[in-house]
Amino acid sequence: MSAESRPSDSKPPQQLRVTVLGSGTSMGVPTLACRCAVCCSNDPHDKRTRPSILLMYSGRAIVIDTSPDVRQQALHAHLERLDAILYTHAHADHILGLDDIRPFNAKQRSPIAVYASQQTLAVLRRAFAYIFEPQTTESSIPQIEIHTLDGAFDLFGLRVIPIPAQHGPLTVHGFRIGSLAYLTDFSSVPPASLELLRGLDHLILDALRYTPHPMHSTVDQSLALVRELKPRHAWFTHICHDLGHEETNAKLPANVRLAYDALQFEAAV
Ligand SMILES: [Zn+2]
Ligand SMILES: [Zn+2]
Ligand SMILES: [Zn+2]
Repeated sequence: MSAESRPSDSKPPQQLRVTVLGSGTSMGVPTLACRCAVCCSNDPHDKRTRPSILLMYSGRAIVIDTSPDVRQQALHAHLERLDAILYTHAHADHILGLDDIRPFNAKQRSPIAVYASQQTLAVLRRAFAYIFEPQTTESSIPQIEIHTLDGAFDLFGLRVIPIPAQHGPLTVHGFRIGSLAYLTDFSSVPPASLELLRGLDHLILDALRYTPHPMHSTVDQSLALVRELKPRHAWFTHICHDLGHEETNAKLPANVRLAYDALQFEAAV
């Protein structure tokens, strides 16, 4: 009996269905007005919308971030409902799709739970002032129920652990749920957060490109993090047009792959 075996009367782990909605950097790939090989590639894996993932659990749908491409992403994923949004930070490529949740409000006749740090909420209040003001128009506006991040919390039976990281000077949050963690847009991870990222089956993490960037982890930096944390599978995301899907994957270790739009897998929770 291995150390990992469970007693026969314990329940099998519940599965979280993970869909990468967008695997691209803030400008997306192809990048506007660019004629580079990756932007001109015919490989569908080289078409990357702005970064977000969808988590399905027990009939509930949770997205991490609302990218400017959220409407097309939701159409492609045949998303029928939306129950919660977790925000990593308030950069435009992570928040600008918030207005597109309105059809889910209408269909579900209820507000959608939003989890974000105080700092992120402050930007949302500025960028989407009309959502937070008393309604002065007949137009529909997104209806949200605000929750300020303050440590781990329960969401529809899932334990969600926010993981603080640095994105240049900005503090952002990754999230761990069971054996999955999503850590986009970071340049460094503090030691206390590293401890929250051990023993993962799936780690989805920022790897913008090979060339150094002040705000983002590079392929080599993220590979070093994978060696340190030893997840069973690592998926690179927030990818720019420097990285062609096939040629980059050919150079990566077997347990590390570039994520791509519509990638799906299950993670135990
Ligand atoms: Zn970003
Ligand atoms: Zn390009
Ligand atoms: Zn960012």
